[in-house]
Amino acid sequence: MRKAAFIAVGSELLRAERPETNSWTASRVLRGAGLLLHEKRVVEDTVEGVATAVRELVPRCELVVVSGGLGPTADDVTREGVAAALGRALWRHRPTGEVIAARYAARGRPMPDFAWRMADVVEGAELLPNPVGTAAGQWLELPGCTLVLLPGVPSELEAMLTGLVLPRLGAGAGILTRTLRLAGVYESLVEQRVMHLYERFGRENVTILAARGQVSLLLLAEGSDAAARLEEMDRELAALAGPDLYGRDDDTLASAVLAALRRRGWTLAVGESCSGGLVASQIVAVPGASGVFVGGAVAYADALKRGILGVPADLLATHGAVSREVAEAMADGARALGASCGLGITGVAGPTGGTPDKPVGTVHMAAVTPAGRRHQLHRFPGDRQMVRELTAAFALDLLRRLVAFPGEAGGGAT
Ligand code: ATP
Repeated sequence: MRKAAFIAVGSELLRAERPETNSWTASRVLRGAGLLLHEKRVVEDTVEGVATAVRELVPRCELVVVSGGLGPTADDVTREGVAAALGRALWRHRPTGEVIAARYAARGRPMPDFAWRMADVVEGAELLPNPVGTAAGQWLELPGCTLVLLPGVPSELEAMLTGLVLPRLGAGAGILTRTLRLAGVYESLVEQRVMHLYERFGRENVTILAARGQVSLLLLAEGSDAAARLEEMDRELAALAGPDLYGRDDDTLASAVLAALRRRGWTLAVGESCSGGLVASQIVAVPGASGVFVGGAVAYADALKRGILGVPADLLATHGAVSREVAEAMADGARALGASCGLGITGVAGPTGGTPDKPVGTVHMAAVTPAGRRHQLHRFPGDRQMVRELTAAFALDLLRRLVAFPGEAGGGAT
């Protein structure tokens, strides 16, 4: 495996104000050259901070990309840090300085003296012109490692990585990735099912990731037979995932639900209480949703559950708003708004409102289609936001399973 490392320079990236995103871009772009990010670091704007990271990562990687700190101000110290790490001098490349001065002049501003620093070049480095900004990049061939310095502005970094760095690195064998998306199942269960394949495919080539009611299997293949191996991994893991697999890569649960409904020629309406429209929002985020989704109601108060969704008052009085009976009546009521399928959701998102028999996180969800109906009771962990997100994910998955696998028992983790 060809190893790359990324160093993001910028004290602001160590604080909460500015998320470090250039390494994501680098990770994505460098795959095209068969390079995998092996390590990334965020360092403060000090010569020592930059120098230490460069000194430590250069001997370990084929490529090290340093981003940021190439501007004109005193805290832009990447050039000095790299020079210190390599024990090299900086020299001033006047033509680059003049190009920068011309850019200042074009904006009607004189170039301040200190901005000449942007023309300082690490001894032995080749300058990389910046097609979209001011600060130039630098390219250094070291024994066993290529060290590239690029500006930190995200759009400039991306343009230079894609347009200048990638072509020079050569296409390489390339790295192919795919994400298998699963829902309604716990991470540990997926792990148990697939772990016997780790040895065969390589432990580092299959990564399990769980978040908010969903599990992803990240697959990676490299080398000349990468495409065939990725297909083989996909085939074997998809077979083990069974009905828990709802899609791949950019698919979302909502897009999977819409696709399943579309295949049957069915339409959908939702009746949401504790999820507050989250399910509807996720559905309409999918382009083309209007062909399947007719709408619904956020029926938070009992009066609206009765008035809009037609939930019988005696059901609410006898079982309470958070109950199987009310969830099912909400699904029927949504369907009666004018769709072939309905989804009903009612629960306690917290932090208040829980009772001993219906604690915070209790959610009833029900789905109804022309082919059948299904209900699930969940006791979700976490805060209000997490309960709402888990609710949306499990409700969409409940419906997906009912539409795609109508003959099966409940399915999904309850
Ligand atoms: P210039 O000073 O010419 O703008 P530079 O190379 O000195 O370029 P920085 O000053 O370090 O770049 O960063 C420019 C902008 O881009 C800043 O707003 C910074 O917060 C942002 N930025 C820098 N690095 C990153 C990163 N790794 N991820 C996200 N944003 C970044």
